Amino acid sequence: MVTRRGEDPRPLPSETALRVIMRRLREIMAEDCDGQSKLDRIVRQIAGVMVAEVCSIYLKRQDGSLELFATEGLNPDAVHSTRLKRGEGLVGKCAEIGVTVNEPEASSHPAFSYRPETGEEIYHALLAVPISRSAQVIGALVVQNKTTKEYSDEDVEVLQATAMVIAENLVSGAVAGTGAAIEASRSQPMIIEGEPLSDGIALGHVVLHEARIVVTQLLSDNPAAEIVRLDDAIHKLQANIDEMFEHEELSAAGEHRDVLEAYKMFANDKGWHRRLREAVEGGLTAEAAVERVQNSMRTRMLRQHDTYWRERQRDLDDLSDRLLRVLAGRPMRANNSDRMASDAILVARTLGPAELLDYDRTKLRGLVVEDGSAQSHVAVVAKALGIAAIGQATGVVERVNAGDAAIVDAVTGEVHLRPSAEVIAAYSDKVRFRARRQKRYQALRDRPAITKDGVRISLLMNAGLLVDMPHLAESGADGVGLYRTELQFMLSDAFPRLDKQTQLYRNVLAEAGERPVVFRTLDIGGDKVLPYLRQPKEENPAMGWRAIRMALDRPELFRLQVRAMLKAAAGRQLRIMIPMVTAGYEMVAIRSLVDREKEFLTKHNHVLPSEILIGAMFEVPSLLFDLDGFLPRVDFVSVGSNDLVQFLFAADRTNARVASRFDVLSPPPLRAFKMLVKAAKKHRVPVTVCGEIAGRPLEAMTLIGLGLRSLSMAPAAIGPIKSMILSVNVERVTDCVENLLKDGAKDVRLTLQQFAERDGVDIDT
Ligand code: PEP
Ligand code: MG
Repeated sequence: MVTRRGEDPRPLPSETALRVIMRRLREIMAEDCDGQSKLDRIVRQIAGVMVAEVCSIYLKRQDGSLELFATEGLNPDAVHSTRLKRGEGLVGKCAEIGVTVNEPEASSHPAFSYRPETGEEIYHALLAVPISRSAQVIGALVVQNKTTKEYSDEDVEVLQATAMVIAENLVSGAVAGTGAAIEASRSQPMIIEGEPLSDGIALGHVVLHEARIVVTQLLSDNPAAEIVRLDDAIHKLQANIDEMFEHEELSAAGEHRDVLEAYKMFANDKGWHRRLREAVEGGLTAEAAVERVQNSMRTRMLRQHDTYWRERQRDLDDLSDRLLRVLAGRPMRANNSDRMASDAILVARTLGPAELLDYDRTKLRGLVVEDGSAQSHVAVVAKALGIAAIGQATGVVERVNAGDAAIVDAVTGEVHLRPSAEVIAAYSDKVRFRARRQKRYQALRDRPAITKDGVRISLLMNAGLLVDMPHLAESGADGVGLYRTELQFMLSDAFPRLDKQTQLYRNVLAEAGERPVVFRTLDIGGDKVLPYLRQPKEENPAMGWRAIRMALDRPELFRLQVRAMLKAAAGRQLRIMIPMVTAGYEMVAIRSLVDREKEFLTKHNHVLPSEILIGAMFEVPSLLFDLDGFLPRVDFVSVGSNDLVQFLFAADRTNARVASRFDVLSPPPLRAFKMLVKAAKKHRVPVTVCGEIAGRPLEAMTLIGLGLRSLSMAPAAIGPIKSMILSVNVERVTDCVENLLKDGAKDVRLTLQQFAERDGVDIDT
């Protein structure tokens, strides 16, 4: 048996291992010695208690690599010299994606990364747990054994709890020296690269979004008292959830009730309570127990690649947050805005759209999140609010202090932390330049969008929230060409009832005044998920049961929405647009549903709209091959080029690897547009384009060359597009596009760019 200097080598019964280890860690932390000695003692203790031949601590460096900081059992010379690249080997995987790795035969695992200097080839079993604080992984704690064995659940729990204590002490700097790399990275200028979520450049000072309460006290001296605190808090949490049920808006039966019931079941789950109690009995404070149980359940749930489990994990995260708030005696919703700088750059690991709306818009300049994609809901809201935003900024939270100067360059996707005076000066110039250009666009606001040869183009804006509506007047748009109604549904906690929907649409119409508004009915499914609506799991949701398909199969929600729209537009024109239409007969079915609602309202003495136009989104290529069957069944058409292009090229619009692989400025999509424009002319059906391309000057110029006369785009694009229109000659651009399609030119984009340059068309953005 290996005898560990001065420690009791006897194996411990598993139920006491946690408690023993906590006590010993507490003693080590209280000792007056340097950080390295503490880490050395910690690994020795863990190895002893867990009867492991090896115990090692790896910590993340600034570049994301892992460094061996302390070991018992591996070659001591490897300490501070062995490094693992980001994600390398089983340990790297553990630290990179924050999962526990339990491998009976690690050395023959394909992902095993063998480092000769450590002498680890003789060990077979490996258990690695992430060392993380507030969901941020800062390293890995590893034990290894010579035998081939799978570590028990108890072993995993003990190691996870230990990792938590280590994390706490590293972050708080109690283990001097080891936190230095993290600390140092918080004081120097640096650039973090991410993905632009919402266009713009912002200079300001960091405000850290504190979604969670940070648990600082981990170990308790009095478990009995902690159990009382915990039980009391759970009690209050349950009462709080019961109150949610009593809320009038949520009291009716429906999908949202199912969601709430599931949530409530979780809050009452005996297994959860038992785990929390066990963690407290093991020596943790109630707060630390909440965090620990959350971490270990998260690890298990992350193994399930299923949206159901991800949703459950969100429930658990939310419940854990609530429980921490109860324990801390804080209100459920913090008021974030009063203590905020007036040039705030909000930095968060993750942020929901509603949380963003909690902040005072007038003080918010930029947003940086560690997760988030261009399609995420927070991105949508950031765009609507006109806040420069960057996502996928890995590690940003760890590298900033509240109050640091920061620049969000959401054009390139770079976040500059603590920038030098030169960088600030250069960016201030950029911001001024953009502001000047913006001024120029503003000056065009009241000028009609008429081309050089006198062709009037209708410029509409896309919207999705009531907060977008003031942009109508600011941008000088002719109306709303696409109102994405699902955004409001995505932000709600429960399905909005008839009155709420009616009021919303009424407000939108009131804000629009005389200008037309095209309401698109719910386009859910695909990447747009309603938290309270249970949808069957689909392998391929973008092509699954979404939008009109749901409306036709389960017409209740659709009818409710149409009823709300009809009521809201009493006495004026109503334009309804149906997403994801695939065939003409679908529109026949839609019309009969709308007719039923008209009849219902007439019977109940409601005033109907003065005119009802029912149109379709043109997003599915099948329509191209049935234009004569489809067009007579619609009052108007709007091309959703985001979806049309994804289906035309079979390239997932949400997958960055393939989304930009195909160019919309290439013969297949351009021919598709041409076919549609020609047939629509024959059937006298007005056509608009409302996908992203309508807001890009070169693409919009090409669409005009293809015969389109109506474009709908984000409000910020109206200025640049109008400037392009004022400088273009329709006849000449039409010739250019015609020739391109005839010749089958290879580089369509380049040819169009050259045309714009030669002809003096302003395609500058
Ligand atoms: C489109 O598909 O182009 C479109 C405008 O709709 P959405 O982006 O909402 O799918
Ligand atoms: Mg679409």
